[in-house]
Amino acid sequence: MRKVTFPHMGTSVFIFSDLIRDLGNEPIVPLQPNKKILDLGVRYAPEFACLPFKVLLGSYLEAMERGAEVVVTSGGNGPCRAGHYGEVAQKILDSNGYKIEILVFDSVFRNPFQFIRKLNYLNKAKLSYWSIAQLIRFYWRKLQALDKLERCTHKVRPRALNKGITTKVFKQGIEWIQQSRNLGEIEEAEQQGLLALKNIPQDPDRMIIRIGIVGEIYVLLEPAVNHEIEEILGNLGAEVDRSIYLSGWAHDNTFGHKKDSLHYARPYLGTAIGGHAQEGIGHTIMYAQNGFDGVIQLAPFTCIPEIVVKTIAPRITKDYGIPILTFFLDEQTGRAGMQTRLEAFTDMLKRKKRQPLKVVGGEKYARVFGN
Ligand code: SF4
Repeated sequence: MRKVTFPHMGTSVFIFSDLIRDLGNEPIVPLQPNKKILDLGVRYAPEFACLPFKVLLGSYLEAMERGAEVVVTSGGNGPCRAGHYGEVAQKILDSNGYKIEILVFDSVFRNPFQFIRKLNYLNKAKLSYWSIAQLIRFYWRKLQALDKLERCTHKVRPRALNKGITTKVFKQGIEWIQQSRNLGEIEEAEQQGLLALKNIPQDPDRMIIRIGIVGEIYVLLEPAVNHEIEEILGNLGAEVDRSIYLSGWAHDNTFGHKKDSLHYARPYLGTAIGGHAQEGIGHTIMYAQNGFDGVIQLAPFTCIPEIVVKTIAPRITKDYGIPILTFFLDEQTGRAGMQTRLEAFTDMLKRKKRQPLKVVGGEKYARVFGN
């Protein structure tokens, strides 16, 4: 049986692993990024490659040690380096004598023939297109259920009386979703998971601040790379909202859905420069208009689109009165340093929230702090 691996991205790992198995391959489940994987990636990648590329390359090399022969990954749109990840990784591995094939899946509408050719290559079980469509629908629903549970953890965690309980219940919910065998069971597992999360004892009077998280998709979605920032913030009393979820991102990119955030970003950045620059700017403004207390930008070190966002951020803060904290993440970033900066940021936001009413923000939007 052909051994197939894929990038590790948050909680979605079991979904891709099951899909690959159902198509008749043996999945080599990627490990959560760790020091060994990062060291491997750093050793083989160009020094100035962005962090996600180093992590993914290291992850492929680690999976090859366990027999992986094929990597399935997604492509990238726009002018940034994401669109070349697959080819560059393939060249690096070829030139170092590794035998592995990297299969890059772009949107089906970009090149339908190529998409079908790659799908046929993976379809060792010789399933009909109808059966494959049903499979995709089934796993897509699981992905949506996972994202729903995760959104719920963001609301519950900062209010929970017991700090570690939300993550524990979430893991149980993931298991329920993983075990479900049809659409009805996924629905049941989702409801059961949401109920279990809502039933966690909470303090309704605790002062909660709301923080939006924007940035590059891989560092947003992979907790091992962002040092579990959502959990840290939740435990510091911050309800977070992440601007990208895998199910939403996959939907928008597959069907070319026009995002609201692009409209808001236009006065600051009217051109697509790759990555998630425009979305990040647009979401920051949307967070400000929806009364969020602050925004955190997560950016891989050397990521050009995110560097551009960082240079625009002070203008957004001036116009909309929303504090923005940026983290540039690379292989040197440590959890302790991040925790300290997050503690300082959340303290500052809480102080601001306690202050008497005060109108801030420039010509475009006046925001009232307080209450
Ligand atoms: S968005 Fe940034 S991190 Fe991602 S590939 Fe492009 S340059 Fe690299």
